[in-house]
Amino acid sequence: MDKVRFKLRRWDPERKTYQTSEYEIPVRRGMTVLDGLIWIKENIDRTVSYRASCRMGLCGSCGMVINGKPMLACETQILHLESNNVTVEPLYNYEPIKDLVADFHQFFEKQRTIKPYLIREDVEEQINPTREYIQSPEEWNLYIQFAMCITCGLCYSACPTTATDPKYLGPQALMNLYRFFADSRDQAEHLRLEIADQVDGVWGCHLATGCSEVCPKGVDPALAIQLLRKELLKRSLKLYRGKKISELAPPLPPRNKSPYRAFGEAPEFTIEKAEEKAREFNILKDDRVR
Ligand code: SF4
Repeated sequence: MDKVRFKLRRWDPERKTYQTSEYEIPVRRGMTVLDGLIWIKENIDRTVSYRASCRMGLCGSCGMVINGKPMLACETQILHLESNNVTVEPLYNYEPIKDLVADFHQFFEKQRTIKPYLIREDVEEQINPTREYIQSPEEWNLYIQFAMCITCGLCYSACPTTATDPKYLGPQALMNLYRFFADSRDQAEHLRLEIADQVDGVWGCHLATGCSEVCPKGVDPALAIQLLRKELLKRSLKLYRGKKISELAPPLPPRNKSPYRAFGEAPEFTIEKAEEKAREFNILKDDRVR
């Protein structure tokens, strides 16, 4: 078992300053930075504060700057860092709350600004849904990559514009805006492009692409911002045609006319085919499916 030195840059909310604490911890193969922090809390210093939940890269809670790079502590194995010194800091470009815990208030405020939900004109259907919306695999492909975001906020920590302009909407909010813009079920493309078309919107991006580099889910916010710029440019050149909007699936035929029986029952052709196969392999003694 190796020993590794953890150096934590901790925010002290009472003194309003950072202080550094160092701890030596035993490391096993497969142990993550989050495991290391848990070990410190359980064995050395109960006062250490950090945020974590799922431990499997899904909740996005344990974003921290580890050896200078924004990463998820639960997905970062200590031995993969190839260093006997591990520096852990709270995410950059956020107000710190305590120790390694960053304040996500602004992050979610910006998220709210872009209206992160489907907007449609058939309001009654939204309140009392009757059917699904039809969406082809091609339409799904247009936005699904951007729907993988876990709101971990690492992209803001790597973004030089966010570091210098607190009003900048930021990579995650703009990416999410594109996610809904590209969704064929959404009918608010004009509103969405209006939100994006601001100095603190897509035009604030300097295309440093740090956001895409650190994203643990391969979401690529920099690409989304470029795609939004392309849409705005097309519109200014009057090349914008509008997108095809998904419609409601047709109603199911009445049960007695349906080629399918009630849910849970196999369609008739399956039974016939099964009988045929069974006869072929001599499984059926009499002429009936058992
Ligand atoms: S885009 Fe990536 S880095 Fe940014 S919040 Fe979403 S998952 Fe995290």
